[in-house]
Amino acid sequence: MDCLPLHTLQTVFGFHAFRPFQEEIINRLMAGDDSFVLMPTGGGKSLCYQIPALHRHGVAIVVSPLISLMKDQVDALRENGVAAAAYNSSLGERDSRQLLARLHAGELDLLYVAPERLMNDSFLERLREIPVALFAIDEAHCVSQWGHDFRPEYVALGRLRGIFPGIPLIALTATADHQTRNDIMERLGLADAQVYITGFDRPNIRYTVMEKRKPFQQLQEFLGTRPDEAGIVYALSRKRVEEVASKLRELGIEAAPYHAGLADRERSRVQEAFLRDDIRVVVATVAFGMGIDKPNVRFVVHYDLPKNIESYYQETGRAGRDGLPAEALLLFGYGDIPISRSLIESGTNPEQVRIELHKLSAMIGFAEAGSCRRGALLGYFGQRLEEPCGNCDLCLDPPDSFDATEEARKALSCVYRVGQRFGAGHVIDVLRGSKNERIRQLGHDRLSTYGIGAHLAAEAWGSIIRQLIHRGYLQQDLANFSVLKLTPSALPLLRGEERLVLAKPRIKVAEAKKEPRRRGTVLNMEYNEDLFQSLRALRKRLADEQNVPPYV
Ligand code: ADP
Ligand code: MG
Repeated sequence: MDCLPLHTLQTVFGFHAFRPFQEEIINRLMAGDDSFVLMPTGGGKSLCYQIPALHRHGVAIVVSPLISLMKDQVDALRENGVAAAAYNSSLGERDSRQLLARLHAGELDLLYVAPERLMNDSFLERLREIPVALFAIDEAHCVSQWGHDFRPEYVALGRLRGIFPGIPLIALTATADHQTRNDIMERLGLADAQVYITGFDRPNIRYTVMEKRKPFQQLQEFLGTRPDEAGIVYALSRKRVEEVASKLRELGIEAAPYHAGLADRERSRVQEAFLRDDIRVVVATVAFGMGIDKPNVRFVVHYDLPKNIESYYQETGRAGRDGLPAEALLLFGYGDIPISRSLIESGTNPEQVRIELHKLSAMIGFAEAGSCRRGALLGYFGQRLEEPCGNCDLCLDPPDSFDATEEARKALSCVYRVGQRFGAGHVIDVLRGSKNERIRQLGHDRLSTYGIGAHLAAEAWGSIIRQLIHRGYLQQDLANFSVLKLTPSALPLLRGEERLVLAKPRIKVAEAKKEPRRRGTVLNMEYNEDLFQSLRALRKRLADEQNVPPYV
């Protein structure tokens, strides 16, 4: 093709202009270089490889994890007159043969293929015989255990880069924090790839976190200030969903529960009624949302703490699709933390448990952020916000602050003294002069920083350390037991050349944790004493072995 990508965008796809970064990504791929694209769902990732597929010689091979995703894309491309096809297990033998014949005849611009089909030796042999324009790996987080949807069949894709050295490769995903991103790039051999992180900001959503005191009353007040608006309330358990929905109905609010325990028919009924504005509030578990495309959702309330920032981002992202102002309200109470932890720790795969605990820890960090909430959220996805947003709870009503220079210096020195090899939990124990076995064994009770922070509670130190992380004085290696390390910015502060003001935690620090309830129902799971004992043992082992901060 002898025309510009913009021309193709307009004539083939019928769009007027590129979205931010699409053109740069396309140009990079057309030049034959690798890239890694992190863009939210609906951001427009597909065009980033579809347009180069039309411009470069040969067929573009697109890896996609689900047959339904492939079908949607192939159908849409064909409607635009593009020669696209899908090669997966849904094809019969005859169709497969026909498709391969078209592939060899050079009739296809794009071929969507399942990873296990692609990484099959005889198929790879075929690809060597024909010109390939590019490889696109969609939903690339599936290659990483750090992502939320690990698929073992994606792992083999790691060989692709080595087998086809001259063909550009683009990996795309909507969800990847720092660790997942590094992991994906390493596994796919994308060391030289250009990384594009774009478009996570949803400027029309206002993010607010409130201390959870009397959650139902808080919800009622919130709804009372916006009597005509529709929204979603997310809660953790089916039981809580049912409870909240029926209490709202008693108040005369058109609310309905939604969770995986309801019959399919009831769930579709609720979904449709919500789309038609017959139901104002859907109270739901995380089961609600996939494929909900209601433009005028005005608010999303989290009645309980989400498991991780990815879920929080996705769930709040259902508000304000129409671009008009929308609210995201999180009710955050420290009492929710042990419940979330127990749920995670009841998992059977220890590696997965470890990863999820770290993600929960980041979620708590977001809820406790001391400056611009939007900045903290985008920062998690690796996108920088140039200035505070001016439209989150923390920008609109900044928390009280205090001169934390001394405390910060103590914390930073302690991180240094323990050799930058421990997580926040251990650093705090040393600062506070805790008398635990581990500290004695390591000889950390002889450090000059041992006990210099005994005047503050562990939670207060936790807040200080998290703010030091948010502000870039400390780095937390989530992939490596959350070990804390100093960054170069820490030096002026340590040398006393700089003062530091931090936020006082707005949310009251937790009271000493009570003994767990003997019996209770969480997510329809009956807890009994034995289960609790084993959970506690597991938690303790993890905390000991892996330095999981005690305040999580
Ligand atoms: P993603 O894969 O990032 O979730 P898609 O590639 O499926 O997103 O695109 C989401 C929607 O945005 C699609 O309907 C697509 O046609 C549309 N879109 C993408 N790029 C543009 C553009 N430059 N102008 C207008 N619409 C676009
Ligand atoms: Mg996509």
